[in-house]
Amino acid sequence: MSGTLVQQAGSLSLDIDADRLLRRIADLARIGRSEVTGGITREGFSAADREARAYLMAEARAAGLAPSIDAAGNVIVRPVHVSSSSTDRQALMMGSHLDTVVNGGRLDGAYGVVAALEVLQTLVESGTETRHEPVAVAFANEEGALFPQPFWGSMAIAGRLAGLPREPQDHQGRPLREALRLAGGDLDALGSAGWPSGSVAAYLELHVEQGPVLERSGNRIGVVDAITGRIVLTLEVRGAAGHSGTAPMEGRRDALAAAARVVLATENISRERGLCRVATVGRIDPHPNTPNTIVGAVRMTVDLRDTDVWRAATAEQALRHALDAIAAATGTEIEVVAETRSDPVSTSPALRTAIERSTDELGLPYETLPSGAGHDAQMIGDIAPIGMIFVPSLGGISHVPEEDTDPADLVAGARVLFRTALRTVGPTSYPSHQD
Ligand SMILES: [Zn+2]
Repeated sequence: MSGTLVQQAGSLSLDIDADRLLRRIADLARIGRSEVTGGITREGFSAADREARAYLMAEARAAGLAPSIDAAGNVIVRPVHVSSSSTDRQALMMGSHLDTVVNGGRLDGAYGVVAALEVLQTLVESGTETRHEPVAVAFANEEGALFPQPFWGSMAIAGRLAGLPREPQDHQGRPLREALRLAGGDLDALGSAGWPSGSVAAYLELHVEQGPVLERSGNRIGVVDAITGRIVLTLEVRGAAGHSGTAPMEGRRDALAAAARVVLATENISRERGLCRVATVGRIDPHPNTPNTIVGAVRMTVDLRDTDVWRAATAEQALRHALDAIAAATGTEIEVVAETRSDPVSTSPALRTAIERSTDELGLPYETLPSGAGHDAQMIGDIAPIGMIFVPSLGGISHVPEEDTDPADLVAGARVLFRTALRTVGPTSYPSHQD
């Protein structure tokens, strides 16, 4: 351990307020909650989402901090004493999102936002002089549950405007423009939400794992090494519909039987051949979908994920070969009609080290793991080195009302975020995280 780190360890008495953290998580869990299912529905830019954002801003103001809303609808909380002249200081950005899926859990996103606020408040209240300006962000519409533009806020901050529609609409065709205005944003000024490259020294996101890895290993903290890339192919399988009683088996061009082979081939690409981390057919729409008719056409999706872009590409190529072979064997046509892809993003090695040392300091067992889900960090990776911290998810489940984490782990994760932030913003020189 270097002298710097020993010195840092000496300031262990400085700590977050665990009760305040848990109270805010509980407060947010009441916004958009269904009395029937216990699930939370706070779709991005919905009334419940606005209420959660208002709550965050009120808490920040009560803490003497300065919350504001950018043109994309992101809530940005800064230390109040920062004047415009000091914005040349690089930021340490921390955050996550307050929006949820329909009938989701109370922790996905909200936990990371509350923890970021807690760390910022602790730094300010303790009068800690920091090299970088600590900033807490609640990114707008990460899930894309209502307006199908996921990562909306973090894409705007990262300057990825080309990837966003000019006049976005929700599933019913209602314009985002008005919903964004109600949330305090401005579609016409979207470019102003961008942070220039170099303005963010580091970005840290604390999140529930949403998977079973940490619970199974018994480790309390996950240090994320990479966020998986994702390739989603929408396929159309075209055969020939016919009477299920009169058409002989010989000569059939059953699109659903072909689709079934695609399902197994997809599973095989990961499970048997190990070409990518996970491979899933998540959606199948057969037509005409009646009991006594051979299916004539199927629309389906294949989702391939890996943290290595070349492995994902290899898996995609293998899948496309399999599709050709299945089409030939079943007399069907299989066409890829749409594709979306996001590249994997690696976290910063220096920030990983900072997280590991903070975890060691607190005596918590940890492991390194990839994130299978996408996160705002993926977008912010365009403009800054990123670090991600996971805490265990009970039962490994997420996006459901039962999503939960042991309160002791919620506090532990926030402590790791705090100590990592101290290493990153602190007045002492921590080994460079600019990689
Ligand atoms: Zn999330």
